[in-house]
Amino acid sequence: MRRSFSFFERFSKAFQDYPSLSRIIVVSTISGGGLIAYSEANGTNGVVETGTRKKKVVLLGTGWAGTSFLKNLNNSQYEVQVISPRNYFAFTPLLPSVTCGTVEARSVVEPIRNIGRKKNVDTSYLEAECFKIDPANKKVICRSKQGVSNGKSEFSVDYDYLVIATGAQSNTFNIPGVEENCHFLKEVEDAQGIRKTVIDSFEKASLPELSDEERKRILHFVVVGGGPTGVEFAAELHDFVTEDLVTLYPKAKDLVRITLLEAADHILTMFDKRITEIAEEKFSRDGIDVKLGSMVTKVNEKDISAKTKGGEVSTIPYGMIVWSTGIGTRPVIKDFMKQIGQGNRRALATDEWLRVEGCDNIYALGDCATINQRKVMEDVSAIFTKADKDNSGTLTLKEFQEAMDDICVRYPQVELYLKSKRMRGIADLLKEAEADDGSKKNIELKIEEFKSALSQVDSQVKFLPATAQVAAQQGTYLAKCFDRMEECEKNPEGPIRMRGEGRHRFRPFRYRHLGSFAPLGGEQTAAELPGDWVSIGHSSQWLWYSVYASKQVSWRTRVLVVSDWMRRFIFGRDSSSI
Ligand code: FAD
Ligand code: MG
Repeated sequence: MRRSFSFFERFSKAFQDYPSLSRIIVVSTISGGGLIAYSEANGTNGVVETGTRKKKVVLLGTGWAGTSFLKNLNNSQYEVQVISPRNYFAFTPLLPSVTCGTVEARSVVEPIRNIGRKKNVDTSYLEAECFKIDPANKKVICRSKQGVSNGKSEFSVDYDYLVIATGAQSNTFNIPGVEENCHFLKEVEDAQGIRKTVIDSFEKASLPELSDEERKRILHFVVVGGGPTGVEFAAELHDFVTEDLVTLYPKAKDLVRITLLEAADHILTMFDKRITEIAEEKFSRDGIDVKLGSMVTKVNEKDISAKTKGGEVSTIPYGMIVWSTGIGTRPVIKDFMKQIGQGNRRALATDEWLRVEGCDNIYALGDCATINQRKVMEDVSAIFTKADKDNSGTLTLKEFQEAMDDICVRYPQVELYLKSKRMRGIADLLKEAEADDGSKKNIELKIEEFKSALSQVDSQVKFLPATAQVAAQQGTYLAKCFDRMEECEKNPEGPIRMRGEGRHRFRPFRYRHLGSFAPLGGEQTAAELPGDWVSIGHSSQWLWYSVYASKQVSWRTRVLVVSDWMRRFIFGRDSSSI
């Protein structure tokens, strides 16, 4: 069926057509027009015209993964019940900008009920948190902060399909004092809290009757964690201080200090080495004190202790700490994992089709889940048998080539391995296993040789990063699978089942990395783009502006964000303590 595109949708589609550029670029899937229709009014009580009951999809979470799923689901056979404690979508990549007022908090959020209208999928929203998943009875138990009409705040919701997209929470690693004394940077409220605390610190340090020592402590900002978020926040704070605050608080100029503590040997370790080096150099020029190999052991009300690799412990007084060391599991997910025998994991394990392992009709995506990529070596005998069509007990090159497409779709590590070894095709891989270097046509492998040819490919199994880019791509993928569930049941389009009969219904999820940005402050950004392309400087900063503007969830937020940037260029950042 052809869908007519609104102007917004066409605009956002135009951006999708550029194989651009940033780790948020996938947001294209949810940019442009709206995402969710709150459709109590046009509901059909779950009954489609043919008389069959609509399948009820319960979606937990309104973040990147959940919103992208909703935006892309188009099949009117479903009714969707969204449940999330947050009645808006937040554009997390701009949260560091919110901490210093470069962008306002309300410019990066879009109310879920506002986000466009889905014409053909009944969607409703409940502002509540799911605290228990009951797979046996196919229901989720939720709690609302608002309290429901009979005075109770808890209720349950049944599902036919459950899509879990609850994201993750900040990880304190149970280090004493972190929870009580540090700011996190995960939610919009966190960013607002940091902004207020920064300004309050400057006001506090300007009060009379304080020793210089005390003023220095108050104006010592510590960032824990040298990942992209910690680094971007440190850079933003440095810009805010040097571009705006020192002129308003001239006495603070020589007292203010920013320290970045990182347990590893470098910051931005997930980026190309060139970016790490340049970031460290830039921070050192800017006077941001980067302490590498510093593992925080304890946080008190006024000081933070860190241990070096040599075991030396130092305690530094601070005024404010921002804790950004990675993510941990939400309690509801922990509880669910225990129920299904995944208790010792960090995230829900799914297969390559995003189905939670060991559960029927439950899917998980985004930061709360990881894909357990099936290893080639686990299936190697089955692959051999499937490929050996003439049952000769040996595999010719022709036989292997015929099975190769399915193998590469089912096990993406094979292709990555070939690439990493600069092999042109499967023939090279097989030749490597052949003892004599005969002509390609004569290659005929026994199972042992076949195993040895493939023995290294699983080294290329990659875990996907916890990013918006992954979450949004997974949301789009899953929605497309849901849309074609019936169709693909009849005409499966996935690869051959190696350990069973027939084909898989769908192709497995395949992530396409489109690049990442690391803003370093001073209107300079490092960009790492596919094809080993690294760019650092002002030009990447403009790329960053254009990509982030284009990927906004709606035209309203796009206009707000761009006008915030312009306001900042003209008037500087607002330092009011509100
Ligand atoms: P989230 O977006 O966190 O959404 C989770 C949703 O679940 C929320 O709506 C939440 O309210 C809801 N929820 C929570 N608990 C429950 C419950 N019990 N029941 C129901 N609902 C619940 N990634 C990039 O690719 N590029 C970037 O530049 C980038 N910058 C970032 C900057 C910051 C400051 C942060 C914090 C993250 C950044 N990320 C970035 C990472 C990115 O935001 C996450 O990977 C992404 O948000 C994951 O999407 P998600 O849908 O899994 O989770
Ligand atoms: Mg054979």
